Amino acid sequence: MRGRHYIAGSWRADGALIPTINPSDLDETVGEYPQASLADAEEALVAARKALPGWARSNIQQRADMLRKVGDMLLARSTEVGTLLAREEGKTLAEGVGETIRAAQVFHYFAGETLRHPGQWHESLRAGHNVIVSYEPVGVVVAITPWNFPIAIPAWKVAAALAYGNVIILKPSEYTPGCAILLAEMLAEAGVPAGVFNLLLGDGRAIGQTLVDGADAVTFTGATPTGRRILQMAAPTMTKVQLELGGKNPFIVLDDADLDVAVEAAAQGTWGQTGQRCTGSERIIVTKGIYDAFVDRLVKTVSGYRVGHALDAATQIGPVANAAQLDKNMGFIQRAKADGAELATGGHLVEARTRGHFLAPTLFLNTDNAMELNREEVFGPVAGVIKVEDFDEAIAVARDCELALSSGIATTSLKHAERYRRESTAGLVTVNTPTAGVEYHVPFGGRAPSGFGGREQGTASAEFYTEIKTAYINHGVD
Ligand code: NAD
Repeated sequence: MRGRHYIAGSWRADGALIPTINPSDLDETVGEYPQASLADAEEALVAARKALPGWARSNIQQRADMLRKVGDMLLARSTEVGTLLAREEGKTLAEGVGETIRAAQVFHYFAGETLRHPGQWHESLRAGHNVIVSYEPVGVVVAITPWNFPIAIPAWKVAAALAYGNVIILKPSEYTPGCAILLAEMLAEAGVPAGVFNLLLGDGRAIGQTLVDGADAVTFTGATPTGRRILQMAAPTMTKVQLELGGKNPFIVLDDADLDVAVEAAAQGTWGQTGQRCTGSERIIVTKGIYDAFVDRLVKTVSGYRVGHALDAATQIGPVANAAQLDKNMGFIQRAKADGAELATGGHLVEARTRGHFLAPTLFLNTDNAMELNREEVFGPVAGVIKVEDFDEAIAVARDCELALSSGIATTSLKHAERYRRESTAGLVTVNTPTAGVEYHVPFGGRAPSGFGGREQGTASAEFYTEIKTAYINHGVD
């Protein structure tokens, strides 16, 4: 695929093209993409600002119809998009198609949200008056997205922004721009007017400050240090900012857990999508009574996973997404060993029919919560088990972490589940199900420094994508 920016309804590509490489096959170039310049960013901001009044006042039925059409197209093309996603990022085909279907559902959901049209009417404290609270578009939204959900994350930002009457500039990850180009094509085909949706490709660092300065709101999903940087960039202009950042998510297994459920949820939560999910389990905390039985079963399960090319039907775990991530993973593995953690399985590269970033699912035992492995987000197929005395210690260890995005527990006790739901510091709590696996119709996100500026998805999205106006009306009717 040959990539282009999409600005003011036309496709552009100037300057040198940068290749993207298939992480399952380093000999395959997936596409070539330009790097957006400051001039491109300024042009997109001008186009978006020009398109804003028309879109903000557009007929909500027509707006809903366009979003619904994009959802239909994503469904109809889910194998094509899912395959590209697998080639760009390394998700298995099933995961890629599943993510595309999720993106379609998000567009369908926000088509409905367009018509829900949030607003409130209140009696006034004064006779002959009333109060109307309306939720108006924020304006020009910039969305900056990561490589690990190349279609779902752009979908939930673009669909929400457009539903509430905003215009948007999407800057997808430089590692996975192809899916965003397909999305741009679908938005154009669905009739979204020129300038309402714009696409800029390349590394965000080159244009970040310009975009933040020119936007009314910036929604960012990515690494915590990048999120901090964006918040600093936004300080002078006080641009509204929403950040969805990293997670160091605990999964607790209690003595009273159902062993089958606990092993399945821990394995899926930790190694599903090659561990490259912000909600993935990164610390497995196990009470001593179930420890031996659980660890034995978990190691057998994990060491049996088939690692390989994302498009091979037999593959359960695809490659690590890019060379930088692989280096990062290997660094964590080396340092965990040096810190005294015991390697139970994995820790090495796997041979496959193609040259790719194939890392065996890796599990360390005898780790504690002070080790780097359990403090820094790995964002790969690598995790450690922490053995604890009891439920109290498990909760203390789970809470001893800054990046509280998601958090899970395996228990058959309703009392334990409810106590954990209350005491967890994370934005998402799961019981007897993986820490990853979120749904689009309910709020998503964690508290700072894992998230900032309000939740995404569901009706909670309206908080970020709209501004509240309170109108006091003296209508004079007694
Ligand atoms: P990243 O922060 O390196 O990059 C994300 C995006 O930011 C890319 O589009 C990049 O080009 C852009 N960017 C980088 N520096 C920038 C700057 N100075 N100004 C403007 N844009 C800039 O993150 P990544 O490696 O692509 O993604 C992995 C991270 O994303 C992990 O930490 C993961 O936990 C996090 N993540 C969080 C969620 C969530 O919802 N909480 C979801 C998925 C991923």
